[in-house]
Amino acid sequence: MTESKVDLKNLTPEELTDFLRGMGKETYRTSQLLGWIYRRGVTDFSKMTNLAQSFRQELQQRATVSSLIEEKVELSRDGTRKFLFRLADGKFIESVLIPMETGRNTLCISTQVGCAMQCSFCLTGTFGLERNLEVAEIVNQVSEVRNKFPVDNIVMMGMGEPLHNLDNVVNALNILYAEAGFNYSPRKITLSTAGLVPAIIDLGKRVKVNLAISLNATTNELRDQLMPINRRYNLETLMAACRSYPLDSRQRITFEYILIRDLNDRLADAKRLVQLLRGIKAKVNLIPYNEHEGSNFKTPERATVEAFQSYLLKRNLVAIRRASKGVDISAACGQLKGKSIHDANSLASSRL
Ligand code: SAH
Repeated sequence: MTESKVDLKNLTPEELTDFLRGMGKETYRTSQLLGWIYRRGVTDFSKMTNLAQSFRQELQQRATVSSLIEEKVELSRDGTRKFLFRLADGKFIESVLIPMETGRNTLCISTQVGCAMQCSFCLTGTFGLERNLEVAEIVNQVSEVRNKFPVDNIVMMGMGEPLHNLDNVVNALNILYAEAGFNYSPRKITLSTAGLVPAIIDLGKRVKVNLAISLNATTNELRDQLMPINRRYNLETLMAACRSYPLDSRQRITFEYILIRDLNDRLADAKRLVQLLRGIKAKVNLIPYNEHEGSNFKTPERATVEAFQSYLLKRNLVAIRRASKGVDISAACGQLKGKSIHDANSLASSRL
């Protein structure tokens, strides 16, 4: 038979149950396999010792459990770690592990190779979209990092636009939530979008997840310039979708707002931001722009950022200033490119 094997990591728990049923297996086998594959991180069927020998052999013939190749890990002086993973087709993606003050770790994962959004301030989009990540490639970033470090929270804020790969992202979330596997609570996972409005509405109907919106501007005029997606779904449409996004009683939508010097960092912007978010259960993450080569945008003065933040706080908006982590290793927001131009030579030496 030339039929290719199924990567079990591409299957949602329901699909895994169906697959096993097709092999004549009972439903409880799903939980056993989820436990081995995700909770214990085992990829080798022969090590799944509570499964009958014959069952393990059958699995070996029909299925695989994929993993990613860890090409490189870089450690920042602030404790942030950037993982460069090689995919089966030789393309690269990055994931970033961010230690928080609370002692917990947040993992920032990618959902596409490259990105189609073409936001003018972001480095990831400069090469365009290469392809969507498969379900397995999304969850495997979590698997690989969890083999080494605890991962408490997950943010889909790495390379790519998660809502531009909606089906795979929804399936990956359902795997991350599976009780017998990773068992993440939906409260622990946040998906960030540039504002694909129809997909935001769809997402809310299909799965529970915290929503973050990369807002970055308070007028259509500026947002059209910074984020071309705004020409298709403008601020009014975006805010309407946010208003109808299903939220639990204590849940809020996060609005990420990059502060760029002399572009969107004035009090008039802060004032419009307050108006825009009126009636939405919101919190604002202020991210001073991370400068990078080839970009003319600048970071505002510290005092400007503080004034912007205190304007929001005084109007009862929850506004957090996000220190960008991992700047020294290009792991900060908008700096992921998943290209390893200099990586070939520094491969072995940079392993941590
Ligand atoms: N496409 C999704 C997921 C990527 S999130 C989205 O747009 O939300 C990446 C976050 O980094 C976004 O909030 C974006 O606004 C921010 N970002 C991009 N480039 C940046 C830069 N140079 N400095 C600071 N933040 C940046």
